[in-house]
Amino acid sequence: MILKTKKERNREKARKYIHSINGRVLRKAYDKKYWPEVKMRIYTRLGNKCASCGCKDRRILQFDHLKDNGYLQRKQLGPRSMLLYILKHPEEFQLLCANCNWIKRRIKEGRKEPEVEP
Ligand SMILES: [Zn+2]
Repeated sequence: MILKTKKERNREKARKYIHSINGRVLRKAYDKKYWPEVKMRIYTRLGNKCASCGCKDRRILQFDHLKDNGYLQRKQLGPRSMLLYILKHPEEFQLLCANCNWIKRRIKEGRKEPEVEP
């Protein structure tokens, strides 16, 4: 018979609980509260407005990777770990509104758009 340490027994108990119905409900409630708070902290750290035009509408603000490696990083880390990464390394990101982010992307791709006359 293999004796388990107290730490191992507790870990096993926690694992069982997290997969139980009560655990799932609790985790969902926790996630619902936790992740929006993380996002709010990131917005605050990054200045709460678009770095290009100054727009403050959070519905359209996006986290922009200054190194332009967002696709790979998101793929590697996944959405939630990505948020924690931004929180740890805010110097690698900026806030851009959706319009400014698209404009930046177009410029990076070297596309020329026909200018609209006023
Ligand atoms: Zn903008």
